[in-house]
Amino acid sequence: MVAHFPLDDNVVRVHRRLCRLMTDDALRATRADAAWLLERADAEAGEWPAAATQASRVLNASYVRAVDDELRWRSTNGLRRQPETFGHSRQFLDELLQQVDLVAEVELLTNLRPRGRALVGVCPFHDDHDPSLTVWPGELRWRCWAGCGFGDVIDWVLLVQRGAFSFRQAVEYLSARYGVPLEKPVPNRRGPRHAHKARVA
Ligand SMILES: [Zn+2]
Repeated sequence: MVAHFPLDDNVVRVHRRLCRLMTDDALRATRADAAWLLERADAEAGEWPAAATQASRVLNASYVRAVDDELRWRSTNGLRRQPETFGHSRQFLDELLQQVDLVAEVELLTNLRPRGRALVGVCPFHDDHDPSLTVWPGELRWRCWAGCGFGDVIDWVLLVQRGAFSFRQAVEYLSARYGVPLEKPVPNRRGPRHAHKARVA
């Protein structure tokens, strides 16, 4: 789907540079957005000026290529970029995510109904009429397809609080609410620079 036309290597390179800074999750989510826009560009080619369609194809196809290159690079080198843990161990955060009821947290703000293996509902963060919010209980993840956000229940709480909670406060709120004892924070040795150490620039 991506290579219907010659890609501009310079655009791919610029996108790839951006991709290096992103977490694995963010790469996959933004790749899905770009792939969707690419499909729209093809499907609606007759409705827009040819130059606009071509620009959309080049930008989005280049982005998809850049994400695929970056994920392949990480896979080959055995690296993952997980979200920043802000002094908590990944083990503690994973335990917390397992114990928290994501669906219950979401349903404090909106009603969900089943669709396949997921649940869908009206997004409480934008003026939503066609349900844009998907929750995957098995994967402990959610996403608003209109762009409000995506992630795990900590990301959800941060969005609900809209800046009133820091990451640490969101973790404390959830640990108190679901009775998961807080660990003593540990120094974060795997900081955001980790993924770049082995890379030859
Ligand atoms: Zn939304």
